[in-house]
Amino acid sequence: MLYGGIEAGGTKFICAVADENKKILDKIQLPTLEPEITLSKVIEYFRKFKLKSLGIGCFGPIDINPASKTFGFITNTPKLPWRNYPIVNKLKATLNLPIGFNTDVNAAALAEACLGGAKGLDSCLYITVGTGIGAGAIVHGKILQGLCHPEMGHILIRRHEMDNYKGKCPYHQDCLEGLASGPAIEERWGEKGVNLGSNEGVWELESFYLAQAIVQYILILSPKKIILGGGVMRQKQIYPLIRMNVLKILNNYLSVPEIIEQIDQYIIPPGLGENSGIIGAILLGELAYKNKSF
Ligand code: ADP
Ligand code: ZN
Repeated sequence: MLYGGIEAGGTKFICAVADENKKILDKIQLPTLEPEITLSKVIEYFRKFKLKSLGIGCFGPIDINPASKTFGFITNTPKLPWRNYPIVNKLKATLNLPIGFNTDVNAAALAEACLGGAKGLDSCLYITVGTGIGAGAIVHGKILQGLCHPEMGHILIRRHEMDNYKGKCPYHQDCLEGLASGPAIEERWGEKGVNLGSNEGVWELESFYLAQAIVQYILILSPKKIILGGGVMRQKQIYPLIRMNVLKILNNYLSVPEIIEQIDQYIIPPGLGENSGIIGAILLGELAYKNKSF
């Protein structure tokens, strides 16, 4: 049995086909252009396979409420050609498959909980720090969802007293994403993050902001594992800095051994490496095929 998945991002679409063990058998990457252009390539790709289902882990915000008139739409994205775009309907109309649809970070959280760094646990948080910042939570074994999906990247945090950078978020300016996303790092320091590896000040400030957010997520959600992925987290030196700052802010308030004694195993990189998102998308498709809720 073959299952398809799309990790739909603002810069690239990754399309893959996996077997029932979620082993990826084939994968391609397409640039995110105008919707009709990108989707025609996506459809051409998936038509080559006899699939049971398709799952989409999508950049957002998106409408994932099945009762809504705009279910399956990409909604308020700053990428204008994709704004209010009915991606699920478009793919369903041509491929005629059961389609699972959720956010890219919810897909990644699901994959990490089922097969990755949080396997065997009934809760975890997956945070991506890339072009944007977002997080997906698994709570009681299910993807956390309320009126809409959470948007944890846009929480407000305290500024560092030495940081005069105005912030990059078009909605809130200096929210977490505005201060700590990849583009925020690039604009503040005048250089792409990938070239700032040896500048310790960059990563101290970055961990100062990410740790504040993580502490809030811990205090509100109490996840059993926190997984940090995305392009910026390729700077592996940030993990110990984040752990140290999280412990410092918590200041022994929570007497939970998993946090205070084993933080190295509590805040971790993705167990599935760079494949969490695409494997999560494949899982979303499989769940849609089996008509299971999650
Ligand atoms: P996206 O968020 O678009 O899906 P990524 O997760 O790869 O993609 O994030 C891209 C962002 O991460 C860019 O702002 C880029 O500058 C930054 N980035 C990518 N690689 C690195 C790296 N090695 N070190 C620091 N920043 C990086
Ligand atoms: Zn914001």
